[in-house]
Amino acid sequence: MTTMELPKVEVPAFVAGTKGLLIGGQWVAPRSGRTIDAINPATGETLCRIGAGDAADVDLAVAAARRAFEGSWSRWTPHERRKLILRVHDVLMDHFDELALIETLDMGAPLARTRPLREWTSQVLQFYASQTGAATVETPPNSLPGDFLTLKHKAPVGVVGGVIPWNGPLIGQWWIFGPTLATGCTAVIKPAEDASLSVLRTAELMLEAGVPEGVINVVTGYGREAGQALAEHMDVDRVAFTGSYLTAQSIVRASAGNMKRIQLELGGKSPDIVFADADLDKAVPGAAMGVFTNSGQVCVAGTRILVHRAIHDEFVERMQAFTRSIRVGNGLAPDTQLGPLISQRQLDRVLGYLEVGAREGARLAAGGTRLGGDLASGFFVEPTVFAGVSNDMTIAREEIFGPVASIIPFGDMDEALRIANDTPFGLAGGVWTRNLSTAHKVSRAVRAGTVWVNCYGVLDPSIGFGGHKMSGYGWKGAREHVDSFLYPKAVYMNLD
Ligand code: NAP
Ligand code: MG
Repeated sequence: MTTMELPKVEVPAFVAGTKGLLIGGQWVAPRSGRTIDAINPATGETLCRIGAGDAADVDLAVAAARRAFEGSWSRWTPHERRKLILRVHDVLMDHFDELALIETLDMGAPLARTRPLREWTSQVLQFYASQTGAATVETPPNSLPGDFLTLKHKAPVGVVGGVIPWNGPLIGQWWIFGPTLATGCTAVIKPAEDASLSVLRTAELMLEAGVPEGVINVVTGYGREAGQALAEHMDVDRVAFTGSYLTAQSIVRASAGNMKRIQLELGGKSPDIVFADADLDKAVPGAAMGVFTNSGQVCVAGTRILVHRAIHDEFVERMQAFTRSIRVGNGLAPDTQLGPLISQRQLDRVLGYLEVGAREGARLAAGGTRLGGDLASGFFVEPTVFAGVSNDMTIAREEIFGPVASIIPFGDMDEALRIANDTPFGLAGGVWTRNLSTAHKVSRAVRAGTVWVNCYGVLDPSIGFGGHKMSGYGWKGAREHVDSFLYPKAVYMNLD
């Protein structure tokens, strides 16, 4: 089903002309003068242009971040940083309708998804505001001969390079900006070329809220240019990367020059296991939206839906009906549930997987085609369900990053776990059951950073999430995340 009627919206004044890079508190043009079109994926139209920053611009941004790190910012007290984060919070809340609209225009997610991120953003900022005391000094006892005082510091790592993908920069930027502000680090962030506008506007608002110049810098541009330069840069102390495992492998190699600390949050092929005793009224929409949310462009998407044979046929039928009821369209329409994919390239990629799925013998149960009509100029694909999938098919092995669910039947818990863990990824998983023992056994045995029981995709920043296996390492959210922006340091003081 598609939506059509679009309300009149006023495009924010920010979305116009050619945006600069934000370096040292100033808008500057990229040194090369090159630009990239910012495209609205719902229409294919150009919204405005962003700078194609490269290594020369990254040099300037890192230098600005270094100056800020070594300047007065390093003397801000935890209380001052807390007040600053709360001021940023208030300014962003005042502008959140605009930010949500920019995100919808630039990356396609419906307003029905971007507007509620206001509450989530508020929670994240308040969490990081509560963490400004993380850079501590302890005085543990020692057993040294003589009179020694030993101090253990947790000190800010320095300049952080952040590289984030296009699937939700309004969310993704906070995993870098949040701990940077909380710990007194500084950051240079490189958003994805396909969705940079909400990050640029957020950073501008952060300056208005009083974030000192150079503490937060944004260099837009291509990954292989600006992103690579950031990963290689000898004066960047830490890289926080979110994206695909292939890019992550090149980041790891690029970062070896100065032994950067790295955090990698990568993709997945997460299993969502539905047992025969599950409440299907909840499990069907829960598992479906566990894949289709954000048009499937979600790292934790539960793309392999494992269903017990006893309920398999009923589950597939209900999944078909649910999938057909989802409203796909331009995200500006208030009733749109799913928007377009991010780009023509991503659309081609997803359509390619749909062909491969059919060719390898999966049964198309719903969806399966690009949407035309009013939506023909955008990058829309129907939410799609394949049934009769076996775990060795390409669509069950590779991350598609589109609204494509694969239903895989199983006979008992052992088989379900064998299939669930037969993947190189380990980001997330889900279990639907009314049996407490099943819930515990399965959530314990699924080798992944997050397991949801009778729900999917919920996230509390004070608990956080992270990957296992080829889904990366490091933790986002919670105290661990803040601590990963700090390094330990011992001081031995001879008092005699
Ligand atoms: P991607 O191609 O790896 O791109 C991610 C970011 O890396 C973009 O900013 C990209 O820039 C940049 N980049 C590309 N090549 C680079 C290089 N050689 N050096 C440094 N940076 C480089 O990933 P994507 O396809 O955009 O995003 C989808 C992936 O992100 C999926 O695998 C998804 O699962 C994952 N993801 C993971 C999480 C998580 O928290 N685990 C969250 C969201 C998404 P350009 O795009 O401008 O070239
Ligand atoms: Mg765009």
